[in-house]
Amino acid sequence: MRQKLVAGNWKLNGSLAMTRELIGGIRAGMGEVGAAEVAVCPPYVYLPLAQGLLEGSAIRLGAQDVCDHDSGAFTGEVSAPMLEEVGCHYVIVGHSERRSLYGDTDELVARKFEAAQRGGLVPILCVGELLEEREQGITEQVVGRQLDAVLERVGAAAFARAVVAYEPVWAIGTGRTATPDQAEAVHVFIRERLRALDPGVADGLRILYGGSVKGGNAAELFAQPNIDGGLIGGASLQADEFLTICRAAG
Ligand code: PEP
Repeated sequence: MRQKLVAGNWKLNGSLAMTRELIGGIRAGMGEVGAAEVAVCPPYVYLPLAQGLLEGSAIRLGAQDVCDHDSGAFTGEVSAPMLEEVGCHYVIVGHSERRSLYGDTDELVARKFEAAQRGGLVPILCVGELLEEREQGITEQVVGRQLDAVLERVGAAAFARAVVAYEPVWAIGTGRTATPDQAEAVHVFIRERLRALDPGVADGLRILYGGSVKGGNAAELFAQPNIDGGLIGGASLQADEFLTICRAAG
């Protein structure tokens, strides 16, 4: 039985005050969340503050990206050992905004995945197709390619300490959600891809759905047998809405 996970990706949003308020609000509602695991991924600069605010709670901390190197002359980067030191458990790698706006290629994402695990973090690997790719009927080809780049670098066994998030790019921040059936079909595809290499790892792998998940649509998505929770952008910025999603997973 896979424990559901709901992770909030704050993206480039927040302030010291908002970090205090949002984490305070989420902590206050955790009693009603049930069995789901909950994580928040604030911007780098708020991670130490968030670490302190989360102390003594079951909420896990994550970062939104990581350098593929551990240290050295890489101005502006943040490494996995640094993130681990400030209390991160998870790190998102390969988010579509990194891929499309900052040039993260499949190969770089694979190196970031490897660096995250080397530093003791659990990567949340994002994969997903563009709208035109879905319309061309090549969703599985695209998601398969993104997955294979990581599998070829680290092997299937590494996915025992990882999470995958299926995030169709056309559903991110657009208000347009994949239907539960559309999402489930891709989740099954991902799990089967892993199953061909390592059935045990495939069965245990948590595959999150991301893309305009809200309090109102979370329950029907999470009811699908292969949807093991969600990666939540916009709706993770309000404690009430985020908690509604967490309850739907719990
Ligand atoms: C995301 O950024 O990972 C995401 C899923 O965003 P949103 O929930 O806003 O679509």
